[in-house]
Amino acid sequence: MVATVWNTTESQRIFNEAQQLMPGGVSSPVRAFKSVGGQPIVFERVQGAYAWDVDGNRYIDYVGTWGPAICGHAHPEVIEAICAVAQQGTSFGAPCRWENVLAEMVIAAVPSIEMVRFVNSGTEACMGALRLARAFTGREKIIKFEGCYHGHADMFLVKAGSGVATLGLPDSPGVPKSVTAATLTAPYNDLQAVADLFAQYPEAIAAVVLEPVVGNAGFILPEREFLVGLRELTQRYGALLVFDEVMTGFRIRYGGAQAYFGITPDLTTLGKIIGGGLPVGAYGGRKDIMQMVAPAGPMYQAGTLSGNPLAMTAGIKTLELLQRPGVYEQLERVTSRLVQGLQSIADELGHPMCTGSLSGMFGFFFTQGPVHNYEQAKTSDVQKFSRFHRGMLERGIYLAPSQFEAGFTSLAHTEADIDQTLAAAREVLSTLPR
Ligand SMILES: *Cc1c(COP(=O)(O)O)cnc(C)c1O
Repeated sequence: MVATVWNTTESQRIFNEAQQLMPGGVSSPVRAFKSVGGQPIVFERVQGAYAWDVDGNRYIDYVGTWGPAICGHAHPEVIEAICAVAQQGTSFGAPCRWENVLAEMVIAAVPSIEMVRFVNSGTEACMGALRLARAFTGREKIIKFEGCYHGHADMFLVKAGSGVATLGLPDSPGVPKSVTAATLTAPYNDLQAVADLFAQYPEAIAAVVLEPVVGNAGFILPEREFLVGLRELTQRYGALLVFDEVMTGFRIRYGGAQAYFGITPDLTTLGKIIGGGLPVGAYGGRKDIMQMVAPAGPMYQAGTLSGNPLAMTAGIKTLELLQRPGVYEQLERVTSRLVQGLQSIADELGHPMCTGSLSGMFGFFFTQGPVHNYEQAKTSDVQKFSRFHRGMLERGIYLAPSQFEAGFTSLAHTEADIDQTLAAAREVLSTLPR
């Protein structure tokens, strides 16, 4: 746990080998620690609030496999359920009873969802939902917000222009301009920018898609009037409102951010938590819209492994655990203790810091704030973040390896874990120049 005895030899050996085998040595880019520098840690196993690396170091984990581990990693009841169902097979490629169970749970929980389609990732869920929005409205343009992430499909990989919304330019080589030309962008929390786009293209916009609480530009809260305004504008112009709740679904509240804010979108995407740590996504919404999806309707979308018994079971068990009383209050309590602690240590030591949290999701920027959008998030001192990240890692605290990712707590994080985290933060912050 102490910096001087922190040995990561085996992590380094495995990662060096991985770089010869896989681009950047990883299966998903942020894992490579590029934005914080230094070598990533290779995990050996996870349990509860902790991860152990291949050198035997233990970390208090605030990534939680990027959200799914809300009940704590490898929850015994989830693992037991997965092992039991695996005896019956891992994939049927035919209907199974567990799809009905999870579908019923999702429909009962999420206000906007009357019917649901299961897929294998959040990316797939967002692709499906937007194809559906375009099919249903017969329109092609979509509006997304700067700094919001909706998976890696072509149409979402759009760099935002400065100022008010601009026409999208591809963010990655390989993405056709013709695809992203239909993606309009606006700054988050900027209702006027969205109103301007609707005024400019009153009959061409199929959908407005957003993270109802942003977790992919760091943690950014929506202003309530922003959400209310988006609901009104989309209704007025005949466009669909799509909440991407891949991260926030079953995390902000059991019914997602839409239940918390009392705003019901037309379509919702889910992922992460509803797979309980196995690959799952889902999209759902009003029945009249969902009936357009094949084979009920003409909008094509399919998946070999979609709705498989293993993933459905992990999701069902996880949601059952989240139905227990006091769960969201507990997350709120633990997370507040963490961010309030961080804020007061930073204040005391004279580091500008702007923290935020809601339920089991949090973030902090090294800036005075406030942070209401991506532009403001980018004023954070990312160099300081990198040094903070490294210092915490050396002290056994595993934070997301990027300033622009939210952090997650779980039901397994104890007050003692938080206190240990805060003690480490105090040590690290007191060594960093202001
Ligand atoms: C993680 C995430 C996605 C993408 O999900 P994958 O399962 O990684 O494809 C989409 N939208 C949001 C809001 C996410 O947080």
